[in-house]
Amino acid sequence: MEEKIIIREHQGMHTTSFFAMDTLIDITINHRGYKKSLKDTYDLVMDYAYNFAAYEKIGDLADINNRVSECVDISEDIKNQIEIANFVSQLTKGALDITAYPLVEAWGFPSKDFKVPKDQEIQELLSLVDFSKINVKEAISPRLCLPLDMKIDLGAVAKGYTGDMIESLLKNQGAKGGLISLGGNIQVFGLKADKSLWRVGLQDPQDEQEILGLLEITDRAIVTSGSYQRNFVEKDLFYHHILDPRTGYPADNELLSVTIVTKSGTYADALSTGLFVLGMEESLKIWKRTQDFEVIFVTKDQKVYITEGLDKSFKSLSDQYEFFFIPNN
Ligand code: AMP
Ligand code: MG
Repeated sequence: MEEKIIIREHQGMHTTSFFAMDTLIDITINHRGYKKSLKDTYDLVMDYAYNFAAYEKIGDLADINNRVSECVDISEDIKNQIEIANFVSQLTKGALDITAYPLVEAWGFPSKDFKVPKDQEIQELLSLVDFSKINVKEAISPRLCLPLDMKIDLGAVAKGYTGDMIESLLKNQGAKGGLISLGGNIQVFGLKADKSLWRVGLQDPQDEQEILGLLEITDRAIVTSGSYQRNFVEKDLFYHHILDPRTGYPADNELLSVTIVTKSGTYADALSTGLFVLGMEESLKIWKRTQDFEVIFVTKDQKVYITEGLDKSFKSLSDQYEFFFIPNN
């Protein structure tokens, strides 16, 4: 049956909203051919949602995780994500590691049947986490080799990649501008119908109803990772979904959230997860060295640190937090 999507008009632009990838998705476009473009976008997301999810029973990533020999053919889409993830794994010395899936599963995040694994189980599963064992070969088509007991999770990068692919689909179809929102992943390009920039809110990690500030921006991905996004409490202790591959436990440092602002959604998504694990000090060393992204940190002691490349686009809106710009020297 042909899926119907609901389209709303606002300020001369068109929006569709739907639920996929475990999150609410909103696509707004400034485009005369909006009907076809929004429908094509919906179809693309539905296809990706199923092929990039480690928790699906069938699909491209499930096929990798259910492989019966070490090497399997993989799609171009999966190859592209693995390459960017592995680049960021190297940059962050393994703070991002897409082979963390056995641990992610043990904590019950995919099934939402959350539990604190026994420490011995965590120690055993840590031996299955090592991105350097991923071997992608390019012959006629891409092929992945990985020890049989290891598994891959693209949860840290798939939404960013989907944002990139939606943006290129919309641009190819002639859209003049768009805002693509997949939960904590936002991507904007071109201009709004009134020729103004897009306004992207920075969420208060401690209050879902509040925003801490606004970015007036275009042609960027704005991707946030935070402990507030998925978590549970057991015996009065708080556990969240971003695991530190060095310990097997949820990352524990001064941060509540990390927002990356850069061109590529996939790179932004990989970095946001990796830098959340690393903490602010180590992350800033990478920022200074690479100079290819900007970042906003929100810390547990109610401070917001913003790298100076965003000083013209960021406006603070909260008096509950102190705001600081970080100079690049
Ligand atoms: P994100 O929301 O982009 O920060 O990604 C978090 C998701 O990535 C989690 O829900 C897990 O599926 C997976 N994940 C958790 N910790 C890591 C990690 N250290 N490296 C790679 N993926 C992770
Ligand atoms: Mg991420």
